Amino acid sequence: MTNLPRKDLFEMPEGLIYLDGNSLGPLPKSVPAKLAQVVNDEWGQHLIRGWNVDDWMGQPVSIADRMGHLIGAAPGTCVLGDTLSLKVHQALSAALVLRPGRKTVLSDTGNFPTDLYMAQGLIRQLDQGHELKTVAPEEVADHITEDVAVVMLTHVDYRTGRMHDMAAITERAHAAGAVMIWDLAHSAGAVPVDLEGCRAEFAVGCTYKYINAGPGSPAFIYVRPDVSGEVFPALSGWLGHEAPFAFDPDYRPGPGIERFRVGTPPVLQVAALDAALDAWDGVEMEDIRRASVALCEQFIAEVEARVPALTLASPRDASQRGSQVSFHFEHGYAAMQALIARNVIGDFRAPDIMRFGFTPLYLGPEDVTGAVDILAKVMDGKLWDRPEYHARSRVT
Ligand SMILES: *Cc1c(COP(=O)(O)O)cnc(C)c1O
Repeated sequence: MTNLPRKDLFEMPEGLIYLDGNSLGPLPKSVPAKLAQVVNDEWGQHLIRGWNVDDWMGQPVSIADRMGHLIGAAPGTCVLGDTLSLKVHQALSAALVLRPGRKTVLSDTGNFPTDLYMAQGLIRQLDQGHELKTVAPEEVADHITEDVAVVMLTHVDYRTGRMHDMAAITERAHAAGAVMIWDLAHSAGAVPVDLEGCRAEFAVGCTYKYINAGPGSPAFIYVRPDVSGEVFPALSGWLGHEAPFAFDPDYRPGPGIERFRVGTPPVLQVAALDAALDAWDGVEMEDIRRASVALCEQFIAEVEARVPALTLASPRDASQRGSQVSFHFEHGYAAMQALIARNVIGDFRAPDIMRFGFTPLYLGPEDVTGAVDILAKVMDGKLWDRPEYHARSRVT
């Protein structure tokens, strides 16, 4: 049993209730010292020797292995690098090559825009008659037909928290001969995931949300080991080459997951991830899930009892929901600004969604009650209806 929460492992401003760890995780206390050590001792003293003596070059795989238990990935099946948008491109371009005769990429209308945008851009560039088809999340399974090349889905919907049945959909995709890509942006560190068990060919995700590796931290890509050797990467960068330091003018893909590397790894961000993973040592995802469901259920019950103006946008059934709860409210943007001004941080997603992430590593039941107290006060007194709360910032 994991003892939760582990609040002492995180930096948190006094009096703040942070319900936005699904968008940017807080700072683990282990990170500043680790960054100082890598900057001062490794970069400062070792300089270019760090690539070898500090294993900077091996870390995109070795540190990815450290997070494997969070997503059910075996050692050597994931690599870190770039941003999630680029990893979506890598996975989709590789998947399409595996099904040359098929033209449909199936996704759902709740998918995160960048995933759809990357698919649109790739299809346009390939110019081979592919089509991106999006259907309602509930209808995805029924549209997995024999003309579908790739099923590309985000496991947990960023807006509503609705969660797909990963095992069932992957099985359905494979039965129809399609390749499966899962985006785990709102799953890694949030809900148990069993990549090996579900046999999906590809999965991608980021490390700055529930894993708490900080703004700009690297994304990851998982490729099923029997598939990784079969694809010729579209982003054929030198560090994915079989022998980068042979400086051969012709590209030859590296072994297995190594070919999904592109260029120079973000060493400082990988170090931050390494330190952030200390907070996950000995943590069982089943324990995280149990605590997360309890926090979400408590939040829904308290909001519905005390704040009738908000209507639930997330699935009511906990088994269909990730680790976030969303509510509709017509003036959701202003209401969220009023909450943030009172030290309760969640976020807003257009058109009218107030979104709250629940992260049992550093949140307990007292935080849920504290947040609802303030939410009730803001709503009862219509405190959100002030001009300064209606002005939209660049990032919402
Ligand atoms: C957060 C998120 C992204 C972000 O992509 P970046 O390239 O890291 O900016 C992409 N897809 C999904 C599903 C997300 O939730």
